[in-house]
Amino acid sequence: MLLTSPRWKDILEKIPPAVLQVIKKLKSHNYQAYLVGGSPRNLLLGQNPQDWDVATDALPECIENLFHRTTPLGKEFGTILVHLEEWHIEVTTFRREGAYSDGRHPDEVDFIPRIEEDLARRDFTINSIALDPISKRLVDPFNGRKDLGKRIVRAVGIPRERFAEDPLRMLRFFRFQSALDFRGHRQTFAAVEPGLIKVVSPQRIQFEFNELLLGPRPDRGLQGMAKTGLLETIAPEFKTLEDVPKVLEHLIKSTQAVKPDLHLRWAAFLHDLGKGATMKRTAKGVQFHGHHKVSVEMAREILKRLGMPRSRKEKILHLINWHMFECDPRFSYSALRRLIKKVGPENIEDLLELRRADIIASTERFDLAWKNFSLFRERIKDILAEERVFSLKDLAIDGHDVQKQLQISPGPQVGEILEEVMDWVLEDPRRNNREELLEYLQENFKNQ
Ligand code: ATP
Ligand code: MG
Repeated sequence: MLLTSPRWKDILEKIPPAVLQVIKKLKSHNYQAYLVGGSPRNLLLGQNPQDWDVATDALPECIENLFHRTTPLGKEFGTILVHLEEWHIEVTTFRREGAYSDGRHPDEVDFIPRIEEDLARRDFTINSIALDPISKRLVDPFNGRKDLGKRIVRAVGIPRERFAEDPLRMLRFFRFQSALDFRGHRQTFAAVEPGLIKVVSPQRIQFEFNELLLGPRPDRGLQGMAKTGLLETIAPEFKTLEDVPKVLEHLIKSTQAVKPDLHLRWAAFLHDLGKGATMKRTAKGVQFHGHHKVSVEMAREILKRLGMPRSRKEKILHLINWHMFECDPRFSYSALRRLIKKVGPENIEDLLELRRADIIASTERFDLAWKNFSLFRERIKDILAEERVFSLKDLAIDGHDVQKQLQISPGPQVGEILEEVMDWVLEDPRRNNREELLEYLQENFKNQ
């Protein structure tokens, strides 16, 4: 699909009136104004942009004066957030950047009068197209449209220099391959210098890594990262998979197969990471005893280093820890209820999804594994549809009832009795009514 002439009607329909209004206003004051960054790219691909960036030659103070509601998002870098209706539009003065010596922000920026120069500082040709929706004009000095047509991600200018300037671009290179289902241009790929990434802040790395994992083709991005060594530099734990290349392949396939929720994608990508370190060749064949525990520890280190928020990190680790749960369709209903209680009812659907991806990404005994899994999943669904009694909170009686009924004082014994009642209820959740449970207490624990 080579985009010879953009379909302006389709493009204009996708731009919110508020965004057009911002551009019109700037232009009516004799400033230049263009949509830049992700939105022209996505519009030309026929997709709906998520955020709207406008570039202009108006200086930040002028932007603030022109609009009623603004936030100085990064005023020293020229960015003012303009609030209009429910929209938040980033308006940035055309600029040129110095080096990123802290790996976070350019050391200095110069405001400049020409859009072409602003486009030249951008990372990839497909991200360096400016679109003027009022005069229906594109400014495309690096042939980004051609690369959109060829579906390739190519650096603007000399790739080696651009990566050295801001090494995060190497990760963005793979992120866009995943997000857009594009290939990487050969020379840009060849310029990836993994060691450079070390100066980049963990937060920036985490952001792009998340975006890569959430894209429709994480397998593409991850394969490229592995091939160039960028993956091992960001997460040296992956070096332990050097002798078991099939494991890495399986992790990448699982990530591709699992639903695009961030915690599931991370869990899928890391779930077998401990296999390299635990591999043993025995008479029974290759074994990876306890690999899930080692995977959890390795994943914990990686996620901590990347500054993953605690609650998300814990969720990912929990999924990795339980990913080996036995899913045998011959389990009795009470055994299944016990399993759900153990892994947490709030996690069971994610664990099933992880297992689904794990099976799809494996080649061994696929048919049998899939058949068993499907049956197992049906039975779990049946259980989740019935009354949910998976924790002591769900029981029709509480500790006070136990004390009163059995005339005992508070203490650990009360909790132990409740656990036993819980076990009894798990065999048949219809037992969970007050009367029946009090009777059960009376018969089984009175005068113990
Ligand atoms: P998305 O649709 O995922 O937001 P995007 O292209 O808008 O993709 P952003 O990270 O929002 O990506 O960046 C907006 C634009 O700013 C990019 O399209 C690119 O032109 C430019 N840009 C962002 N980060 C860099 C960088 N590190 N180096 C050079 N240019 C960059
Ligand atoms: Mg964006």
